[in-house]
Amino acid sequence: MTKRLENKVAVIIGASKGIGRGIAKVFAKNGALLCLTGRNESLLANVVKEVSTDTTAEYYLGDVTNENDMTGLIDKVMTTHGKIDILCINAGIYPLGWLGKMTLTQWNEVISTNLTSVFLATNLCLPIMKKQQYGRIVITSSISGPKVGLPGYSHYTASKAGISGFIRTAAIELAKYNITINAVEPGNILTEGLEDVGEEHMKRMTKAIPMGRLGTTEDIGFATLFLASDEAKFITGQTLVVDGGQVLPESVFLPFNDNDD
Ligand code: NAP
Repeated sequence: MTKRLENKVAVIIGASKGIGRGIAKVFAKNGALLCLTGRNESLLANVVKEVSTDTTAEYYLGDVTNENDMTGLIDKVMTTHGKIDILCINAGIYPLGWLGKMTLTQWNEVISTNLTSVFLATNLCLPIMKKQQYGRIVITSSISGPKVGLPGYSHYTASKAGISGFIRTAAIELAKYNITINAVEPGNILTEGLEDVGEEHMKRMTKAIPMGRLGTTEDIGFATLFLASDEAKFITGQTLVVDGGQVLPESVFLPFNDNDD
């Protein structure tokens, strides 16, 4: 496999499990030096171990909702490596929250973890990338919010739709420094957390996907790799849906196939 991220320092925020871990694995195979972040030290240490056969990786502890943590973490990466070429902002939470029952605290927790974190990490890396005259920022968004609604998740969909607005404006502001900013919008991806939802629910989710399967974390890793690579140098302010065709059908009640086979 060609190593498309050779000599690049990549910070992946929210890399201790799930999609972040998948991005780390794909980036490792492509030669990036990895700085993986999250709050769970033992999970991060496992991911570092897992990718260490392919690349150099280390972990940095920090909460994305805490400005001091994030500042400290970016400072440490700079002290160790002196540059940040790629910033992937993947940390996110999706607790259920029905309108009328959700508290302001619950709303704020999702907005600050999923959206304010994107502003904070981008803002902290901007002076570094500006000086380098180089930067690739890739955010893990979702189809939920930017493309479709999801009952019980108005806070989550608002946070992800907010990312779409943020990157469009940021892309214009950052273009002159050779910094691109884009987002990947996953559909239903099989992560450790999703395995707990039960067989019946999994079946229903799979049925809604024309390709007949849930996505893998590596599916998102490969889309992120493209947007983080030099091949994508003229793409900015864009989003890439990775969902096996889930958002395409006019109605879930229509059959996807002609049932001939
Ligand atoms: P996950 O398995 O729960 O992983 C979430 C990651 O975010 C973990 O590494 C976690 O690290 C980190 N994180 C969460 N809150 C954090 C905080 N306050 N500070 C620092 N790190 C934090 O979730 P996932 O399913 O992989 O989701 C990853 C991203 O993909 C999210 O943005 C999510 O919205 C998006 N997404 C997922 C799906 C899906 O089907 N799974 C679909 C569309 C979009 P620690 O726990 O170590 O802090």
